Amino acid sequence: MKPQVEIYDTTLRDGSQGEGINFSVADKLRIAEKLDAFGVHYIEGGWPGSNPKDIEFFAQAKKKKFKNAKLAAFGSTRKKNVPVEQDDQVRLLIEAETPVVTIYGKTSMLHVKEVLRCTPDENLAMIGDTVRFLKDHGKFVIYDAEHCFDGYKLDPEYAIATWQAAEKAGADFVVLCDTNGGCLPAEVAAITKTAVGKLNCKVGIHTHDDIGLGVANALAALEVGAVHVQGTINGYGERTGNCNLTSVIPCVALKLKKTSVPVKSLPKLKELSQFVDEIANLRHNPRQPWVGSAAFAHKGGAHVNAVQKLASSYEHIDPALVGNERNILVSDLAGRSNIVVKAQQLGLKVTNDTPELRQILDTIKQREHEGYEFEAAEASMALLIRNILKHEAELKFTVEKYHVSMRRDKKESICEATVKVRVGQTVHHEVAEGDGPVNALDSALRSALAKSFPKLKKVTLTDYKVRILDGVAGTAAKTRVLIQSTDGQREWGTVGVSENIIEASLQALVDSMEFALLKK
Ligand SMILES: [Zn+2]
Repeated sequence: MKPQVEIYDTTLRDGSQGEGINFSVADKLRIAEKLDAFGVHYIEGGWPGSNPKDIEFFAQAKKKKFKNAKLAAFGSTRKKNVPVEQDDQVRLLIEAETPVVTIYGKTSMLHVKEVLRCTPDENLAMIGDTVRFLKDHGKFVIYDAEHCFDGYKLDPEYAIATWQAAEKAGADFVVLCDTNGGCLPAEVAAITKTAVGKLNCKVGIHTHDDIGLGVANALAALEVGAVHVQGTINGYGERTGNCNLTSVIPCVALKLKKTSVPVKSLPKLKELSQFVDEIANLRHNPRQPWVGSAAFAHKGGAHVNAVQKLASSYEHIDPALVGNERNILVSDLAGRSNIVVKAQQLGLKVTNDTPELRQILDTIKQREHEGYEFEAAEASMALLIRNILKHEAELKFTVEKYHVSMRRDKKESICEATVKVRVGQTVHHEVAEGDGPVNALDSALRSALAKSFPKLKKVTLTDYKVRILDGVAGTAAKTRVLIQSTDGQREWGTVGVSENIIEASLQALVDSMEFALLKK
């Protein structure tokens, strides 16, 4: 069944332009897979014409099969006074080999005259030529009308002419963009209504959050006939960010009561939000609407009392609908079923009747309290669950000793690690150098283990992230290390936490190797 509202995610493009956001190609692929599994309809992967890293992303993404989402490459209309077939940036859009191409063009006369510096007619031709060219190459074309609302307010006739130029050339969608993020919901609603009336093709909305109205403006457009909404997970984006899909998705489903992502995905919303923050190496915002840890936390005595009698007295929805939980009475049932689902996804046999479930839940909660985060470290979680089910930590190896040292030799600083591991009765002792202490430790550990487990030679680290956790009063700050590994076929994440960064890294490395050995 066709959804009433399509979700278009641009976390990997517009979102990555946010301050402090920097995704590697591996990060982007992981996020794309997660978004696809969640059920968004489009994933905008990047701008091949502006970023070589994005070309690499599309080359890799081509090899993946997406179940729900269509991949989109983003770019602009052709340059002024250049035939479209000779425009390099447009050529790169086709070479990205995505089913969908999204291009933006100018709506505002001010921008045409002052920024683009071309005639109004040339701008219309740039829009029409580019859309037509992409359609001729078999693309599904989404046209993003930049500065759409500001442009309309300045010169409505010209704004309409630009949308119609895109439509006439065959655009599948005209998406109205509040590029500067300064419009009010009533303006957005009125102008969107006009666009829906004037255009035969479908209309979408793309907003920014500069005055805190990104989500409100998107909903205003959806209420008057827009059927497609663009935004980012957790509202990442330039300046104060894009329209936050983490809020739009539940608003569409639970407030506007329209269909969009699969119903079964909604309870995974919080997990998706945390996952993307983990990959971006950002702390999950506790006050984030819907999915923040404080979104359903009750502190005031009267509230707590009332909520215990009747949950809806101080809650606008049941938190479990979006995978969140009430913060006073941790919902036992929700916690348990989350673990069961998670364990089954990881290939472990756990049901609601598994006697160890209580212990698994308690251990995970305890670890999370200590600073562990399992959203992007599914391999560490799998090991934890498995060890409890087997009533032992059935380790394939143990690290008996390690030593890491660092010295500076003239200009070069050299790190050296020594690791002693035991595999059954055998002990391996290895030394390695590296660019940094963790790199040296990884090399030494891997070469020691490879003697007993040659398959570990294929395992490599693809990412390493460190976060300093807030110190709890009276204790030192802790370090959380998140490691991503691959054996060339699949990737997995592991986590370590300690007051010492090397110790935290070693935990994550050991989990990674242990997990690699588990798999057939
Ligand atoms: Zn934008």
